[in-house]
Amino acid sequence: LHSKLPDVGVSIFTQMTLLAQETGAINLAQGFPDYDPPQELLEALARHARTPGHHQYAPMPGLPRLRAAISAQVARLQADAPAPDPATEITITAGATEALYAVLAAVVRPGDEVLVFEPAYDLYGPAIRLQGGIPRYVRLPAPHFRPDWDAVRRVLSPRTRLVMVNTPHNPSGAVFTAEDWHELARLLDGTDALVLSDEVYEHLVFDDAPRISARQHPALRERSFVLSSFGKTYHATGWKAGYCIAPPALTTEVRRVHQFVTFAVSTPTQHALADALEADITDAHARGLATFYQEKRDHFRTLLAGAGWDLLPVPGGYFQLARYDAFSPAKDVAFAEFLAREKGVAVVPVSAFYHDGLDEGLIRFCFAKEAATLEAAAARLR
Ligand code: PMP
Ligand code: GLN
Repeated sequence: LHSKLPDVGVSIFTQMTLLAQETGAINLAQGFPDYDPPQELLEALARHARTPGHHQYAPMPGLPRLRAAISAQVARLQADAPAPDPATEITITAGATEALYAVLAAVVRPGDEVLVFEPAYDLYGPAIRLQGGIPRYVRLPAPHFRPDWDAVRRVLSPRTRLVMVNTPHNPSGAVFTAEDWHELARLLDGTDALVLSDEVYEHLVFDDAPRISARQHPALRERSFVLSSFGKTYHATGWKAGYCIAPPALTTEVRRVHQFVTFAVSTPTQHALADALEADITDAHARGLATFYQEKRDHFRTLLAGAGWDLLPVPGGYFQLARYDAFSPAKDVAFAEFLAREKGVAVVPVSAFYHDGLDEGLIRFCFAKEAATLEAAAARLR
């Protein structure tokens, strides 16, 4: 078979999880919590699993009650933007992963250009290329990984179909500010380029910084697909449930693809998530995530302080980037392998987030872990 992705191997996250299993290393590589979803959510899932009639296909766009609950929460948390219409603007997908793929398949034609900020989540480039699209990369410079809007302007062209944004950003944690959204809107004014805003870590913004969605900029809202993930919000990456919010005309196109990729998402899962959202009218869970993860960030950084690691700032998300040049001149892939095999901690080499494997001597730790896990890992890393 003539591969459509001959240069793509098993994802770095899978590789590092396998290496952790093989070596017994503590897995701070693949991004997932080592704790479970809230007890109420687990009980809701068990309840719906026992409920007759909750086991056949959900409606293609998602359960109406889940879409209504999402709309209500988004309206509360983004009070300056109109509530998304559950009927025409919200689609439940099999994680943000499916939403990313559905958006790209819906809008990218062969030869279309897609602007991608790098480092970038590993699926962006290959998923664009599968549509015949051409990724155009703009580097986010370390240590702050802030967009350079002049560089963006130089890469935009009449062939730019889509701009992909990820805020808070994986792997750096960088967060778009109101000025960033304003700059993006200004550059896209008068073009017909669309925006995909991957906001799966939307609730994980630290130090009281404002968390601003693409939806909160009126000019961008009209041209944006905004993605979120219950995997991140409810510590349930294995449930594979997320959603896409977009204006009706864009949502129609996403659903055209979604109906042929998964058709619908697991019914009992959607009922359980609807229960959790409906019960939490003060959004205590979502609002509490910033503090919850900020404490983990600070704990991990304190544990590693003074040991020679150069810890980059972490404004959001659940990853800590670190420079290791005080210990080793090795390439990041080799250093990650050494850490797993010799020191018993699995991490992700950040070169995996660059299409050309750019190696800036950085590794990524996931700190979505119990305090005891972070302490055990830090003892080895020290
Ligand atoms: N986008 C980014 C930036 C992510 O980090 C992840 C999760 N690793 C996803 C999308 C995928 O989300 P989900 O697990 O809901 O498919
Ligand atoms: N989003 C996770 C990460 O960045 C990985 C998800 C996956 O393994 N596909 O680590």
